[in-house]
Amino acid sequence: MMSTDIFDIPMELLARIEAAHNILCISHVNADGDAYGSVLGMMWMLRGLGKRACAAMPDPVLPDFSFLPGAGEIVGPDGTADDYDLIIGLDMSSADRMGDVYDAERFANIPLVVIDHHITNTHFGVVNWVEPRCAATAQMLVILNDRLGIETDAHLAECLLTGIVTDTLCFRTSNTTPEVLESAMCMQRAGAHLAEIVRRTLNRMPFSTLRLWSAVLAGAHLDQGVTWVTVSREQLGQAGHEGDDSRLSSILSSVNEADMSAIFTEKLGANGRPAVECSFRAKPGFNVGELAFQLGGGGHAPASGCTLAGSLAEVVGRIVPMLIAERRRQVETCRPAF
Ligand code: 5GP
Ligand code: MN
Repeated sequence: MMSTDIFDIPMELLARIEAAHNILCISHVNADGDAYGSVLGMMWMLRGLGKRACAAMPDPVLPDFSFLPGAGEIVGPDGTADDYDLIIGLDMSSADRMGDVYDAERFANIPLVVIDHHITNTHFGVVNWVEPRCAATAQMLVILNDRLGIETDAHLAECLLTGIVTDTLCFRTSNTTPEVLESAMCMQRAGAHLAEIVRRTLNRMPFSTLRLWSAVLAGAHLDQGVTWVTVSREQLGQAGHEGDDSRLSSILSSVNEADMSAIFTEKLGANGRPAVECSFRAKPGFNVGELAFQLGGGGHAPASGCTLAGSLAEVVGRIVPMLIAERRRQVETCRPAF
């Protein structure tokens, strides 16, 4: 038994899971390790309960995560059926994060429940278990699994430990509580390979990523406690892939002179219009979650993001002054913890 009694799971969530037979698990666009780990972990957990379960993601599976048990079974928007009796949305703070994989018309009569750890969650399900004290949605699933009394098999453990390891940058983020470590320990005991997960998700990259980062970091800016870089479509095209900006975010957020950092990545938005994906980080004691939420995105106090319409120059020109003003306001009104 784990010491997780501080976390309340809504009774209605447990009841709906128990009553369902054929469940679709969905996670988010621009997926990270917690998205993969929690959507596959949920799938394995439901199968452990003897139910039919399918995992769906809006984008194709990234090669970095193809090692996860069940990754080959993840379907895209074209692979879903319409006879589910429950949909579980995982690791998403708002409905738009489900992208095309959630077909609002087809799924109109299927209840959607939400399991998420983002403080900015908009409670878009019929039941919402939102627990910002958890460092990863995968940690919430360890607790759920324990509460359901399911035996943790090695598949499930591998998926859930991956979510915890990636969202905590291997237990380095400020939300790495004793409960996080306890959940991770339970998964390792159940057969998850910690060193292998770290190697596969955090400690390896293609040479093209190194070249991309070197080009991007050569143009790094620092102004009034805010550091930022831009990633153009041309740079992404030269690298030949999307890049992994969560590790690049870690590099930026370790800059001594900055309390906040941002990566602005140029994208082609809906109907071919220019858009920019913004990824924000804040040092302990600072908060970028609220700003991202105001801009239509979401996240946590130390890590957040949003996607904005406009060219790279327009978005950077608009958002950097907001970050600088926000940092100054927080320096003046709050006393940072560190
Ligand atoms: P990252 O910078 O690693 O992509 O994202 C950091 C955090 O912000 C993650 O928890 C992610 O879920 C959240 N986030 C990033 N982009 C968006 C967005 O466009 N919308 C919402 N709601 N959350 C986002
Ligand atoms: Mn997460």
